[in-house]
Amino acid sequence: MQTIEVHTKSRPSTVYCGAGAAEKLKTIIEGKDVFVVTDSNVFGLYKDFIQNTFGSAPVCVLPAGERHKNRNSLFMILDKMLQARLRRNSTLVAFGGGVVGDMGGLAASLYMRGIHAVQVPTTLLAQVDSSVGGKTAIDHRGVKNVIGTFYQPEYVVCDPMFLKTLPPREIRCGLGEIIKTGALDAEILDKLERNAERLFDLAFLEEITADCVRFKAGVVEKDECERSGLRKCLNMGHTTGHALELFYKRRSHGEYVLIGMLLESYIAEKFDICAHDYAEELRALIGKVLKRVPRFENIADAAGVALYDKKNQGENEVSLIVPAKRGEFAELRLTDEDYVGYIEEIAGGLA
Ligand code: NAD
Ligand code: MG
Repeated sequence: MQTIEVHTKSRPSTVYCGAGAAEKLKTIIEGKDVFVVTDSNVFGLYKDFIQNTFGSAPVCVLPAGERHKNRNSLFMILDKMLQARLRRNSTLVAFGGGVVGDMGGLAASLYMRGIHAVQVPTTLLAQVDSSVGGKTAIDHRGVKNVIGTFYQPEYVVCDPMFLKTLPPREIRCGLGEIIKTGALDAEILDKLERNAERLFDLAFLEEITADCVRFKAGVVEKDECERSGLRKCLNMGHTTGHALELFYKRRSHGEYVLIGMLLESYIAEKFDICAHDYAEELRALIGKVLKRVPRFENIADAAGVALYDKKNQGENEVSLIVPAKRGEFAELRLTDEDYVGYIEEIAGGLA
């Protein structure tokens, strides 16, 4: 198990990462007034673990899934916190995937203007990405993550044992963000390429999770609230990925991130931001997780959704974070017409 300190200005976090991390929970919560938030799937699988670890602490079980990442669930948590008479020094433990983590973190930041928060991510995506960095949110009126806060957890506990019950789709989802991290960090990319045949092995995932957490911690320490622009790098592949995800809704977030990276890598090549050989290398790695690029019907309409992306600054402009050299990224701004035209042409060529 590794201990990774995240030195964020608002509040530092300690991340325990690797086999045995869950055993730290007992010490973390010792003598504390604890409130657990989880979802129905995770509760079904880990009821005994939750009871053994958190004893008689109240447990708020939310309906599972992104469509419940809304104000009803948020207020359900807050109501239960009030009923449980939590105080300022109480601790909320968010035990689940990114949906539980984002909503639990938001509730912890709002209740009495902020109580202690601990994240126990149980999906690969939540372990490598969402549990670290302090972004919390709910979706509202069809807009993803539009209501939220920056609120660092005191502890994050990433134990690979939780990944044993994850369906393959959720593993692929996490691998999407892992490969994205590889495109931002040369050492992680080398490791992914050396281990390209064992990307789905739990032992490998345990090792690479710690690397991704350390990388994200470094970015968040330098740009906690996404002001300098550095934290934007974490959105590589996400402009197109998000647009396709919102439009088609068939695959997992991480798979759409990979599809986004794949399509955008051709745009980066077109603009000479990324060399052909390096783009091919990234595409080969993406191909290890995404065996087949789906045929997209109406891709121009889907790409049009990218116009509403939070990262865009001007009207009729689309901002892309694309790979440049190994370990480097660039921001490319395109007019909406050009962007949609390129995506249509590239996707057409792949079909
Ligand atoms: P999720 O929380 O919906 O979990 C995916 C599915 O796996 C759910 O059905 C869940 O019940 C189930 N599950 C969770 N743990 C399990 C386990 N151990 N075994 C079996 N099933 C399990 O989704 P996610 O992919 O973990 O997270 C996606 C969310 O994270 C999105 O809402 C996204 O916006 C958010 N996110 C936030 C950040 C951030 O910085 N805060 C970053 C990336 C993503
Ligand atoms: Mg993402």
